[in-house]
Amino acid sequence: MDTEVERLFRESLMDALAARLSHGNSTLSRADLTKFTLGDSTWRLIDESKGIWNPKSLAATLSIVSSPAGPYADKELAPGVWRYDYRAGSGAGDNTKLRRARELELPVILLRKLEPNVFVPVFPVSVIDDDPVERFFTIALSDLELLRDPAHPTSTERRYAERVVRQRLHQPVFRGIVLRAYAQRCAVCDLKHPELLDAAHIDGDSEAAGDAVVTNGLSLCKIHHCAYDANLMGITPDYGVRINKALLLEVDGPMLRHGLQEMHGHPIGIPKRVQDRPDRDRLARRFAQFSASS
Ligand SMILES: [Zn+2]
Repeated sequence: MDTEVERLFRESLMDALAARLSHGNSTLSRADLTKFTLGDSTWRLIDESKGIWNPKSLAATLSIVSSPAGPYADKELAPGVWRYDYRAGSGAGDNTKLRRARELELPVILLRKLEPNVFVPVFPVSVIDDDPVERFFTIALSDLELLRDPAHPTSTERRYAERVVRQRLHQPVFRGIVLRAYAQRCAVCDLKHPELLDAAHIDGDSEAAGDAVVTNGLSLCKIHHCAYDANLMGITPDYGVRINKALLLEVDGPMLRHGLQEMHGHPIGIPKRVQDRPDRDRLARRFAQFSASS
């Protein structure tokens, strides 16, 4: 494939991937990635067993897997910039095509592994450096290529980069883990449409990445998310729904009556796995805010 043809192919593939992820899901399974439909053909977007996928028909690597707990360190060098270690063995082999991605400036897909066989695709990313002595590539979110030196940002650039990373990586990962934990349902009303669900933060919309953990999340439909954020609805530390007192006395249509007032006193649906359940201390802190404003 000619380089410009390959560039266009990658762009249309990433457009299709973005469209696929625009309906409420931020994750794809290994099966989805193994048979990804583009027009009337299907493409494999992940290697069968390795963390790097080098299709024969393409000049450069198409995707790399980053698993925070994997054997290949993907240490964050700066916001949105990662070290991606060479595959074991010689500097050639699988690494050659990732080097080609840098030389030809072709965009790559980063597959952030959430759990076995579930990934959050992050794209496009670029290979911005190659260190054959220390044996690692430097990978960056392509949006950050505009920076002078993404691996060493100035303080202003760092704030910009952090914002980009939050939007491009942390939010989709948080959404992925929370919606999966709640089996894609609203914890309050049980609505099952991912396109109408959000991953809500219990402890504010914290900017700290450490707070984008499943125990600080609740899967809520749009209306219950807004009601929770506005303290019109609270969740007690023992997982009960409370509705603002004034709102309970209002008279209005079915959304108020069924969607909010009737939820008062109901238990929320919680994740099956104990370790995924909302943190009671965080709920208590947040519920105190609700009580104070109710
Ligand atoms: Zn709901």
